[in-house]
Amino acid sequence: MDKPAILGGKPIFNKRCPVHIVRPTLPDLKMLMPELKKVFQSGQLTNAVNVREFENRTAKYLNVKHCVAVSSCTAGLILTQKCLGLEGEVIVPSFTFHATAHSLLWNRLTPVFVDCREDTFNLDEKKIEPLVTKKTSAILAVYLYGNPPAMEKLKLLANRYNLRLIFDSAHAFGSEYKGVKAGGFGDAEVFSLSPTKLLVTGEGGLVATNDSVLADKLKIARNYGDSGNYDCEFNGLNARMAEFNAILGIEGLKIVDKKVKMRNRIAAHYTNFFRNYDGISFQEVKKENLSTFKDYSIIIDPDILGIDRDFIAMALHKENIMTKKYFYPPVHMQKAYALYRKSGLEITERLSTRVLSLPIYSSLSDRMIDRICDAFARIFKYKNETVREVFKNAKRYT
Ligand SMILES: *Cc1c(COP(=O)(O)O)cnc(C)c1O
Repeated sequence: MDKPAILGGKPIFNKRCPVHIVRPTLPDLKMLMPELKKVFQSGQLTNAVNVREFENRTAKYLNVKHCVAVSSCTAGLILTQKCLGLEGEVIVPSFTFHATAHSLLWNRLTPVFVDCREDTFNLDEKKIEPLVTKKTSAILAVYLYGNPPAMEKLKLLANRYNLRLIFDSAHAFGSEYKGVKAGGFGDAEVFSLSPTKLLVTGEGGLVATNDSVLADKLKIARNYGDSGNYDCEFNGLNARMAEFNAILGIEGLKIVDKKVKMRNRIAAHYTNFFRNYDGISFQEVKKENLSTFKDYSIIIDPDILGIDRDFIAMALHKENIMTKKYFYPPVHMQKAYALYRKSGLEITERLSTRVLSLPIYSSLSDRMIDRICDAFARIFKYKNETVREVFKNAKRYT
């Protein structure tokens, strides 16, 4: 076996065409052209027939009463919390993308971080109850990488303490909990439609809810808070979706299920390879659930494997394989959250130093995955030399 690129071997992938971690799979442009042309000719560029059509189709797909299209998941989360009138504290995981928590700060809500589970990486439902106080108004749960959290337990807790239950479903368009599509759980689920997610509109978000009062209010909220009479009852945002984006979404919806299937295949392919290595573990998706695998991540135990996550990421970079550390640092360790830092997040902190997210997108071929695995195999084989090399050149790599 050749030496890894970090030790002078020939990189497995060419520098001019590295393997990116994501590549959006888009619908056929030809299919979009007639509708794009109509929008051009009509001059109605925003919030018109295509947005309505997109909302109707996604509501049908998700099996919910209402979908409200917005300009991003972040805006959708901000407006949902505002329209529900949340106050005080909200229980939220820290092992997530920072925008989950940002939405709370925009509403002057206090994030109360809860640790995650070692198996599913989702917020640990068993650690929520001790965090509930008189000030708690909601739980904001996340489908981590598309993996559904423990729905029944979350619902039970929300009912017991009279809390709202909202989902950051950014990763979860196409996920299923016990055969039921993500979208209809809790008071609202908020999806992201940005290019790294399953359903892509360019930029965009979608609030799914069975609450008609909330849906009506959201439609006002995304339009500055103006219901149409130019006498705002509250301060909204401009969070409307443009027609071009909706057209992309309508076509994209047709290929979502295929993408979910492909990503599950890729995940199984990787897992099959990494299973042979002690010191590497995986996120558990319960058998009865379906994840989108918006991300595929491995957990690297440096004590067992003899090489740590950061060294492996550097060595892969030399092979022209891009990776991400989702999610490091966890939200509560980031500067913007210094006021909300707390102890009791041991699993979150450990996972975040060991997690490595690998390339995954529906057009990633078996051959490419095998070559990525080859890169890992030789990095592992030469791990002692690799570690020495990284230490020797510490400055060059930081
Ligand atoms: C991508 C993402 C968001 C933000 O979505 P935008 O549409 O970019 O605002 C929020 N939460 C999670 C978990 C995400 O991955």
